[in-house]
Amino acid sequence: ANKNYKQKRTFKVIIVGDAGVGKTCLSFRFCCGKFPEHTEATIGVDFRERSCVIENELLKVQLWDTAGQERYRQSIVAHYYRNVNATVFVYDVTNRESFQSLNAWIRECEKHGLTSDSNSPRILIGNKCDLENGQEKVSMDEAQIFADQNNMALFETSAKSQSEADHVESIFLTLLHKLQ
Ligand code: GDP
Ligand code: MG
Repeated sequence: ANKNYKQKRTFKVIIVGDAGVGKTCLSFRFCCGKFPEHTEATIGVDFRERSCVIENELLKVQLWDTAGQERYRQSIVAHYYRNVNATVFVYDVTNRESFQSLNAWIRECEKHGLTSDSNSPRILIGNKCDLENGQEKVSMDEAQIFADQNNMALFETSAKSQSEADHVESIFLTLLHKLQ
């Protein structure tokens, strides 16, 4: 079926956020269609890809995610931030610290030219919304204020919950539509 499509553009999407927020699981969910049974902490850079048809065009989507630990940042930055078409920022809705870290991640990306006025879109995902609401939970309202301030669309979802599976898919597809 693929040969019916003339072009095959490749889009590079990076996923950033603290270790443990679920970047690898979100990437796995989108590229492999399910929540991974086993995950190991990412060492350096994780890379997955998937082809999708958007508006009658076959696109190859590459998802890159990183370890998130400070000690890896310097060694990976050079090629990681090169030729990026879109950036996905992720926090864990049950982990306020991961939400507070977003400013540092935004600054890091801006240092590499990925700013709100660059033509590479940025979105924000609050992950693990399947977990019980604790007092620590980051509310959708405060996340929305933060997203508005930073000119990003906000989505809450879960890489794990089966009922959110289609939602994870539609978030990434929405982003890919913005890249047309
Ligand atoms: P990363 O360091 O950002 O790549 O995070 P991982 O994808 O490795 O996930 C870290 C941990 O969170 C793992 O134990 C996952 O099973 C768990 N996890 C990831 N996404 C979800 C989610 O949506 N819900 C729940 N309950 N757990 C999740
Ligand atoms: Mg990871």
